[in-house]
Amino acid sequence: MEIISVTPRGYCQGVVRAIRIARRTAEEHPGQPITMLGMIVHNRYVVEECERLGIRCVEDSRLTRRELLSRIPEGIVIITAHGASDDVFAEARARGLTVVDATCPDVERTHELVREHVRTGDVIYLGKHRHPEAEGTVGISPRVHLVSTVEEIQKLNGLSDILITSQTTLSILDTEKLLKACLERWPDAVVSPEICNAIRIRQEAVLKLKDTDVLIVVGDPHSNNSHQLAEIGLSAGIPHAYLIENADQLEESMIRNASRVAVTSGSSTPNELTQAVIDRLHACAHTAQ
Ligand code: SF4
Repeated sequence: MEIISVTPRGYCQGVVRAIRIARRTAEEHPGQPITMLGMIVHNRYVVEECERLGIRCVEDSRLTRRELLSRIPEGIVIITAHGASDDVFAEARARGLTVVDATCPDVERTHELVREHVRTGDVIYLGKHRHPEAEGTVGISPRVHLVSTVEEIQKLNGLSDILITSQTTLSILDTEKLLKACLERWPDAVVSPEICNAIRIRQEAVLKLKDTDVLIVVGDPHSNNSHQLAEIGLSAGIPHAYLIENADQLEESMIRNASRVAVTSGSSTPNELTQAVIDRLHACAHTAQ
């Protein structure tokens, strides 16, 4: 069995930056209550590392960032790499919380683009419902319209001076499909897809895989970009794609009879978890010889 370690994989620069900001906050404010508004990045191992540093995480995927904020009574609140809407920042400060902003600069750039455009027109935002990054962007203005499907695009009405943009972690294939549907309805719309470079090159590397029987994506079940990598693998013709959190979830049945297995990871997955999966695959290949 041949094992391909797809590159690039592992932390993107936005995740590295968010973790650095969280560590520094804990070091500079010993003994103060510090709370993360949601998972710092979508990986429970990183969240657990933050908890060891004394940073509590409030997370409930059924609640908005604003609702989660109401669970933080005092101290420092860290805004995650996914960003948050202006309302959330304002409310946190109004309640006397100290805000530390770990929003990824790529997300912030999308926010600035959207803030600028809603002064004169509407924004169609291609993204995922109930994802914190989408929530933060939609919260900028009622003129931002979140769509995940072609059907939702067909239902939009009464828009003018349209900008189409997207969540940074969307699939490049989904984005193409949604963009095409938008441009069929509004051919004059301005287009500025904002899939970040880190996500784009990881997805393109999976699309380029040849003659691969199985794709293993190491990532957290909450991680949108990890799910996207598995879906892109299937779209690229790889017969089987699995999202696993760690080496313990690798099952022999996933790789049975496979000649070529590729491994990649989400942008919020610690490298040691991916390496442990690669090591286990090598051990399986060795045993099978
Ligand atoms: S995936 Fe992209 S947008 Fe998200 S944190 Fe990483 S670099 Fe930033």
